[in-house]
Amino acid sequence: MPVARLVEQPSRVLVSGGSYAGLSVALNLLDLCNGLPSRFTGEKAAPDTSKQVPLEITIVDERDGFYHLIGTPLAFASTEYATKAWTLFQDIPALQTPAFKFVRGSITGVDSEKKFATIAEHGSQRDVQIPYDYFVAATGLRREAPAAPQTLSKKQYIVETTNHIRTAQAATEGVIVVGAGAVGIEIAAELKLLMPDVNVTLIHSRSKLLSSEPLPDEFKDRALQLVHEAGVRTILGVRVVDTIENKTSGSEVLLSDGRRVKADLVINAVSKFHPTTTYLPSTVLDDDGYVKITPSLQFNSDIPNAYYHHATGDIVSWSGIKRCGTAMHQGLYTAANIHQKMLANIRNITPVYKELASDIPPMMGLAVGTQAASYGPPDNSVSSGEDVMQMFFGNDLGFTICWNYMHLGDAPFKVEPTFFAPEEDCRLTQSLASEPICA
Ligand SMILES: Cc1cc2nc3c(=O)[nH]c(=O)nc-3n(C[C@H](O)[C@H](O)[C@H](O)COP(=O)(O)OP(=O)(O)OC[C@H]3O[C@@H](n4cnc5c(N)ncnc54)[C@H](O)[C@@H]3O)c2cc1C
Repeated sequence: MPVARLVEQPSRVLVSGGSYAGLSVALNLLDLCNGLPSRFTGEKAAPDTSKQVPLEITIVDERDGFYHLIGTPLAFASTEYATKAWTLFQDIPALQTPAFKFVRGSITGVDSEKKFATIAEHGSQRDVQIPYDYFVAATGLRREAPAAPQTLSKKQYIVETTNHIRTAQAATEGVIVVGAGAVGIEIAAELKLLMPDVNVTLIHSRSKLLSSEPLPDEFKDRALQLVHEAGVRTILGVRVVDTIENKTSGSEVLLSDGRRVKADLVINAVSKFHPTTTYLPSTVLDDDGYVKITPSLQFNSDIPNAYYHHATGDIVSWSGIKRCGTAMHQGLYTAANIHQKMLANIRNITPVYKELASDIPPMMGLAVGTQAASYGPPDNSVSSGEDVMQMFFGNDLGFTICWNYMHLGDAPFKVEPTFFAPEEDCRLTQSLASEPICA
């Protein structure tokens, strides 16, 4: 009589958003479900079969690849870097495993009771419904230009960045960047670094840069010093009242003190963003549209099946400045907590959750040309210089740091599927023997 080999049905995880947060969830969950330590711990160990769980992850994203959002100021100043900053999902070695499936499209709805999501599939007029066991919202913020590219394919994005770079290079009257938040500062500094002959002026309505950030004045003053050292001119404490575009002689910016400044390119970097949560029921959102979560990153609301729904990254309602390091860290915690829930379901363990600290202090790394400034725990001191740039951003605005941290270049570890005897688990659904085991 042939020996019955039984394969457990995979747990289906739907991750909406395939960037820092979403990929961190998917990749760490893959490690854990293979019985390995999660990749962010840096530990190496042989697979622990008692922690293995068959897994199927669907990643939904509007883009056709991983875009290194932090690199945007440089991507819109250097065509070479722009190509590097966007990697098609099919070209990322770590994602090439049958455990991952990609759907290119926009998530438009989530039915938490029936546990399926609706996706407007890119390139077709179709809405597809994807069932899941566990759901993760990791779609971040909708950011307008110039904070993020507005195109969704790498091909279109190369055209978008190339056009912008050409316009900046031809700006004989100079470039004006309006708004000295982190994005405006970095855009101005990268343009000046890559195009030293172009006059770059940063205009801000308040007397201090980064005026809306909960950061000490010492950091803001240091940022101003670095901006000047980068060769960017500043006009502070005045508002832009109007921008008059002239087809033949560039633009003229009218300031609240009556001054007029000429430029061929005016970049409005006054931040405009909102959470991408229109696909979720309003009861799971706070007043600003962010997802309310528990410290274990589970939805913190009484919708049906909240236990199976998680949110991570920029989209969550939590303390602290929105940062990519935070998004990846939360991705790890989300993966670990979903894995615990899977083990509790299959092996009857008591789940132990990783929980976020309730009060994340403000921290920031700011790239300003060849230098960077940093502020944050543990000592809350301000540092700056080229060494700080190397530590926080390397030579490519953090692309290699993030790529290596997520191990995107590593081929996936190959693990044999886990087999169980029937008495171990009543969720067994597929049998190579002729008789059904459990209904
Ligand atoms: C210019 C700039 C510079 C920055 N610099 C730094 C820095 O130096 N250090 C730092 O720590 N942080 C920095 N940040 C912040 C950092 O980029 C964010 O905190 C980080 O991107 C959050 O990651 P996330 O995965 O949560 O969201 P995102 O990176 O925004 O990713 C969300 C993903 O979801 C997809 N998506 C959105 N809506 C949908 C939908 N409806 N359906 C399907 N897919 C969808 C998007 O295409 C995207 O791939 C910077 C941000 C900007 C804009």
